[in-house]
Amino acid sequence: MSSAAHSHILARLVPQDALGGSLRVTTPIDGSLIGTVSLNTEAEIDQMLDRAQAAFKIWRDVPGPARGELIRIFGNRLRDRKEDLAQLVTLECGKIIEEGRGEVQEMIDICDFAVGLSRQLHGLTIASERPDHVMHENWLPLGPVGIISVFNFPVSVWAWYADLAIVCGDPVVWKPSEKTPLTALACQAIFDEACEEFGDAPAHLSQIIIGTAEQGEQMVNDSRLPLISATGSCRMGRIVGPKVAARFGRTLLELGGNNAVIVTPSADLDVAMPSIVFGAVGTAGQRCTSTRRVFVHRSIHDQVFDKMKMAILDIAKSKIGSPLDADTLVGPMIDGDAWTNMQAAIEAIKPHAEEIVGGERAAGPADAFYAEPCLVKLTDQPEPILTETFAPLTYVIPYDTLEEAMEMHNAVPQGLSSAIMTTDVREAEFFKRRSDCGIANVNIGTSGAEIGGAFGGEKETGGGRESGSDAWRAYMRRQTSTTYFGTDKPALAQGISFDA
Ligand code: NAD
Repeated sequence: MSSAAHSHILARLVPQDALGGSLRVTTPIDGSLIGTVSLNTEAEIDQMLDRAQAAFKIWRDVPGPARGELIRIFGNRLRDRKEDLAQLVTLECGKIIEEGRGEVQEMIDICDFAVGLSRQLHGLTIASERPDHVMHENWLPLGPVGIISVFNFPVSVWAWYADLAIVCGDPVVWKPSEKTPLTALACQAIFDEACEEFGDAPAHLSQIIIGTAEQGEQMVNDSRLPLISATGSCRMGRIVGPKVAARFGRTLLELGGNNAVIVTPSADLDVAMPSIVFGAVGTAGQRCTSTRRVFVHRSIHDQVFDKMKMAILDIAKSKIGSPLDADTLVGPMIDGDAWTNMQAAIEAIKPHAEEIVGGERAAGPADAFYAEPCLVKLTDQPEPILTETFAPLTYVIPYDTLEEAMEMHNAVPQGLSSAIMTTDVREAEFFKRRSDCGIANVNIGTSGAEIGGAFGGEKETGGGRESGSDAWRAYMRRQTSTTYFGTDKPALAQGISFDA
């Protein structure tokens, strides 16, 4: 894409008055500058949080289905802007355009889901032990939600959180990654258009904070945000979690993964290999669900390693390049730090490796970081693997029994996504019971998820659940209400007698 094409897309999606300032935004495609934005000051953020509180006082009383109508309009606006927004996603975070389109589609899907949900925010009727009493469980709006998000899914992660929060009656205040503020400003502008068409939304229902960890920490420490939904590294979660807990706030933490696929002797390799390769190299290995570890039964270990090696060498030959080109399968890494981290991880694993394939810098502009995917053949699971490396770096490890594979699988601190490749139903069910991850797939890989399920992981991945199923409950507060409709003196619970 030429620089003129960049500026046309930016001009179509981002209001000019939102641009300009000291934070430089570059594209990982060639490292060139694509815009600048201003970091919000402490006083501005303070004002935004007051505004979010004011919006909450109005929005909480709007009926759920009417709140859903706003999200229905927003979803339609996204359909109109899908291609432009996908191009901007690719430009700003470097994922291939096919995945950029997929990301905007995911936003549209979650809008549809949230519209349906807006009529289903239901509680329970509970049997009371006392005569002429009725107990209900009510779900009520919680308050403004602080969203902190990450560069690799610069728009859909926000949509998971914001769409649910808004149908649940909560305004949102969003701090996107400092690496991807332009897509966030574009989303805000599309949301503002939807509010205008809706006509009856309070001002400041959705606001953007432009900032780094510093601005994020201000949100984390402020009680006007009863829920902080934060996506990013385990390092970030380790700081954010205790700070929010210290003020008795709630967190939804979606943190790092260290995901594995187990390939059993019964696996259909024609089914298994495409998923394993996508998990290993898709999104240049920069997904929280990327496949980092592949445990292969010793009887087929060499065969699977060789197939992966062939696929990776083939990609390295001609499929690494600009993410805007339709033929590219692996685009750039986000920045030089990501490249340096990948190289450090390769150095650390060298003493343990039987064979290392790829991992070199691929051809590309001097200020961009294109990496050949790297495949490492090991004999066991040494210590360096226990840490997530956010890069196209995959370890292949043999196992002898499924019990042993599960032990190695669960031996990492993270617990996000897992998969088994098998045609044996006993192996599949054993795996689902033993996997300690939030996601356990059979005959599909670890990478990628549909919006209908609850998304998230255990252990250092943070325990949060977002998106589908009943994840909406995190955005509301639960109230138990008992009503007495009799005429005699009301009975006390547990049969307690109190004759005053
Ligand atoms: P990061 O933790 O450095 O940054 C993520 C966000 O947190 C950014 O907006 C950043 O400004 C903010 N932040 C950082 N420190 C903060 C602090 N002390 N207080 C408040 N905010 C703070 O993450 P990254 O390295 O840019 O992204 C990669 C990580 O994100 C990987 O670990 C990946 O697995 C994870 N990730 C997880 C999910 C998930 O759903 N589980 C999804 C995508 C990415």
